[in-house]
Amino acid sequence: MKKPLIRIPYTTRFPPPTLIPSTTSTIPGALAALQTFLSAPPAHPHLPASTVLLTGAGLSVASGLADYRGENGTYRVHAAYRPIYYHEFLSNHEARKRYWARSFLGWSALRAAAPNAGHYAVRELGRMGVVNAVVTQNVDSFHGRAHPEVPTLELHGYLRATVCTSCRGEFSREEFQGELARLNPVWDAFLQEAVAKGVLGVEDPHARGAAGVRMNPDGDVEVPGAPYTTFRYPACPRCLGSSPTLKDGTRGRVEVDNDGAWSPTSNAGVLKPAVVMFGESIPEHVKVAAEEAIDGAGKLLVLATSMATYSAWRLAKRAKDRGMPIGIVNIGGVRGEEAFFAHLEPDQAGGQGVRVDMSTDTLLPALVEELRNSSFREAGALPEEASQENEGAIFKNMLQ
Ligand SMILES: [Zn+2]
Repeated sequence: MKKPLIRIPYTTRFPPPTLIPSTTSTIPGALAALQTFLSAPPAHPHLPASTVLLTGAGLSVASGLADYRGENGTYRVHAAYRPIYYHEFLSNHEARKRYWARSFLGWSALRAAAPNAGHYAVRELGRMGVVNAVVTQNVDSFHGRAHPEVPTLELHGYLRATVCTSCRGEFSREEFQGELARLNPVWDAFLQEAVAKGVLGVEDPHARGAAGVRMNPDGDVEVPGAPYTTFRYPACPRCLGSSPTLKDGTRGRVEVDNDGAWSPTSNAGVLKPAVVMFGESIPEHVKVAAEEAIDGAGKLLVLATSMATYSAWRLAKRAKDRGMPIGIVNIGGVRGEEAFFAHLEPDQAGGQGVRVDMSTDTLLPALVEELRNSSFREAGALPEEASQENEGAIFKNMLQ
């Protein structure tokens, strides 16, 4: 069977959504509908009560990272943007120099960025027992940092490590950055200067724009006129020590220059970021784990993604096929979203499905507050509930 590939099927925007229910046009209306969605009993007896989240690039915009299709998204401000493809990275030394040069410049900003209130709201939803798992398309590791106790499946991998395309060994991206700096001192000097001027920071995207610098969601930075061809990158340290066995059974050849930079006379030992690149298959164990995360929940709440990548969309489709109610919070349209809301009763208040056309930035923290307050209200109504202390009184009231 052919494994699904990461593709970019659409770079344009999807049609604007239909709000569900129509009361979600205001923040209080949206909060009420989401609360109804999360607290509704399971739609079918075979479904658990918990919710799984499926998140995307929009969630990290408040951390200073770009998204793809949002207001200042990469595809909108940079129409010609085209990420590197897996086959291109594997086969082309020049393409790798360009990739690592841009990644070298983008890394310091990515490292300086941190999870935002949206990620911490997810942590609170986990603590409340409302959310039991997260599937994210983001490669910034923010979910794991904000809520290590709520399991996160990183559907498209992570930038915090590099992985060897020969031996599959994983290495720290941070240490790799140090190697890149050592091998490319002129680039390193440029980077230090750019950081000092605030051109590569996450604090001020406008300063980046003014300098002609563009940062993309996968942590790569474009600097007009940069001499990518001079860039050098290290070889896999493990393969360098002991040459790997290639797919055809022969021993791989890993050679480096005097400073330890990967030499094009090699045919192995190439490191790539531990993300699933466009045109690359999602590893089977990740695909299975993502499906298990969907199957382990009774509802799916999609946050800050237009689900343009098929790998994400098919998980929502799977949830729909299992009879799970689906909620979507995203500014702008989502791929094929009508199908997720077909057959809802017209007067349902959110228990069967929710569609909110707003940013998660303020909505998620407000939702946490709302859920807290409502549980306090329930706690205030405690005498109505049976407990050993008050059950006699309840029976007594019933007989009066
Ligand atoms: Zn290796």
